[in-house]
Amino acid sequence: MARKSPQPKATSSEVLECVQQNCPSCGKPMWNEYNNLRRVRTLKGVIQLLLKIRRCQNRTCERYKIKYRPEQEGSWALPQQEFGLDVIALVGALRYQEYRSIPQIHQHLGNQGVEVSERYSLQLLLLITGFIKPPRFLTTKRVLMQLKFNEVSKL
Ligand SMILES: [Zn+2]
Repeated sequence: MARKSPQPKATSSEVLECVQQNCPSCGKPMWNEYNNLRRVRTLKGVIQLLLKIRRCQNRTCERYKIKYRPEQEGSWALPQQEFGLDVIALVGALRYQEYRSIPQIHQHLGNQGVEVSERYSLQLLLLITGFIKPPRFLTTKRVLMQLKFNEVSKL
């Protein structure tokens, strides 16, 4: 989905290092080969993550040049997702504990300072329910058709 508004500016930053400094296969030290920047939108603001990516430099190793990302990255957000796990958890709680509608969830997120389109609120909800798997989202029309089909099939 193409972005219509500019990506929000980061309100704070974090540096994430790999806990595992040696290759899990050959045991030799992995070099910090490059850094990745990633922005995650959380309930506490937009966090700029600096990821220290390591790779094994041992040519005889089966993990030669395979990137090793900081372990802590997974506690921030799902792969290739821009919203943090706290936002996804909030959307799930609003939907399944308080039975809020998508427009209500969208409004609640806006009140929390998380700018998100109503369509994206639906996609976050569908991500939670397992209808879609990250990073590949279905189009909203296809998702609504699937939801309608599932409601009909439950009757
Ligand atoms: Zn290795």
